[in-house]
Amino acid sequence: MKEKRVLDCIFCKIVNREIPAQIVGETALCLAFLDVFPRQPVHILVVPKSHHKNVAELAAADPAALTDLVNLSSKMAEEFTTGDYRLTFNTGANAGQTVFHAHGHVTSRNPKDD
Ligand code: 5GP
Ligand code: ZN
Repeated sequence: MKEKRVLDCIFCKIVNREIPAQIVGETALCLAFLDVFPRQPVHILVVPKSHHKNVAELAAADPAALTDLVNLSSKMAEEFTTGDYRLTFNTGANAGQTVFHAHGHVTSRNPKDD
């Protein structure tokens, strides 16, 4: 199946290695990379490789990719945090969503090495 891709979407470009990112994890369906503007000591973005504008649309269109996203988020948290973390999905511009390609923020105040 060909992945859905939007040409001017920054996260589609990261998925396709057209612009650089510090990639920290990958599965067949999802990619994890460091947020370029971290708001917590650990701040990782986990995105489906296919383009959906928010998490609800991802859930409706490709529930397996959403499950994979949550599993990869949990793996990233195991690797980079002491175990307690947030997984958040800003949904809609008024809620702070600025990139309209579904993504989870894995954030924590407690990096593993502390
Ligand atoms: P949102 O505000 O949509 O929930 O989250 C978008 C996130 O993407 C922000 O935390 C922002 O710092 C991050 N971001 C925006 N552009 C880029 C980029 O080009 N590379 C990376 N790694 N992160 C980005
Ligand atoms: Zn996209």
